Formats: sequence, structure tokens, C-alpha cells
Amino acid sequence: MISIEEDIQLLIQIVKKDIDILDKRKFLDGAPQNIKVLEKKIQQMDDELAESQKAIDKLDEERRHLEREIGAQTDKIKQKRIESDNINSNEAYKALNKEIEYLEKLVYKEEERVLQILEQAEIKKKEIAVIQEKINSEKGVFLDEKKDIEERMVREEEQLQIIEDEKVRILPHLSGRINGLYSRLLKAKGDSGVANLIGDICQGCYSRMPPQKAHEVRRNNQIMTCEVCGRILVYYQID
Ligand SMILES: [Zn+2]
Repeated sequence: MISIEEDIQLLIQIVKKDIDILDKRKFLDGAPQNIKVLEKKIQQMDDELAESQKAIDKLDEERRHLEREIGAQTDKIKQKRIESDNINSNEAYKALNKEIEYLEKLVYKEEERVLQILEQAEIKKKEIAVIQEKINSEKGVFLDEKKDIEERMVREEEQLQIIEDEKVRILPHLSGRINGLYSRLLKAKGDSGVANLIGDICQGCYSRMPPQKAHEVRRNNQIMTCEVCGRILVYYQID
């Protein structure tokens, strides 16, 4: 025959395990989402860097194309100037000069664009330096955080298993009636069928009870339940 005092001591062990179990489950439930957030932050940095690099590559490509054009057009201008020296017809001379003027304008515009590109590339390079610095200082931190979560997940999973096993071994020691009551309450509440008392406050639902009742609960020698949440009330010091 198990005494009420013994039942209550077992319930204290059980509610401590329930709190641990809940704690670990909460961490394990939230961990994948937390990892995803970190991965997203890392991905964003890498994407930003790649995008800026791509913009610079595009500018470089345009600049090389323009420089080739300028080279070809400059050659053409030289060629046409030589031609114009050997021309006798006034008409042909004018036409040739027009062509030269047109080409010179083109070269001028292209040179202006090259200068623009150099300025834009300079700005992009500064952007890249900023992103690179951010990556250097933050990426490692995020990767470490991710690794920490992953390693903790393994540990918490193992500990959860151990605590659950320990709890399963305690339950049969309870008297039948209390075990039944606890199981029904656990099923209904989801976290635990038992609640500790801190001051006059039930730790299951955080409602306050009359001081006299709290005083009786602290004796741990009768089965009492919270009038608000229905959990079995016990008392132990938080360590
Ligand atoms: Zn309560």
C-alpha cells in the first residue's frame, strides 16, 4: 500500500520530468525553423554578393565591347582622313568629312559611356567590399549558430529519450487511483497533470489560491487539485 505522501513525492519527480520534457520538445519543435532562418540569412548574403559580381561582369563586358568599337572606328577615321587628302572633287570631300564627323561623334559618345561604366563599376566594387566585410564578420557566426543548434538537437533528443524512459519507470509506482487521475489530466492538459506551487500561485495555470489552501498544499500530505485548471497540486523548492 502506497501512502499519499509517497504518491506526492512521486508526483513531484514526475512533474519535474514533465517540465523538462516540455522544455526539450519546445526546443526541438522550434529548431528546424531557427535553422531555416539562419540558412536564409546566409543565402541572402551569398546572393547579394553574386548579384553585385554579376553586375560588374556585365559592365566589364559592355566596356570591352565599346573599346573594340572605338578602336575600329578610330582606325576608320584615320583611313578616311588619308582618303580625304587625296580627293579632288569638292562633293566627295564634303561627303567624306561628314562621315568622319559622324564617326567622331560616335566615338565621343562611346568614350563617355566608358567613363560612366568605370564610375558605376567603382560603386559596385565598393558595394561588394561592404557585402564581403559583412560576410566575413557574420557568415561564420551564423554558421556556428546553425552548428550549435544542430548539435544541441542531437543532445536534447537523447536526453528527452532518457527522461521519458525514467518517467515511464516511475509511473507504475503510483497508487492506481493517482496514476489514473494523473494520466487523465495529462491527456487533457498536454503538458502535465501536476503543478507546483510558488507562493500562492499554481504553476499550471498561474492562478492564485487562498493562502490557507496554499498552506495545506505545501504540507504535501493530501491530494489537492487546482480549482481553476484541475491539476494535482504539489510543492517543491525550485533548484
Ligand atoms: Zn492551476
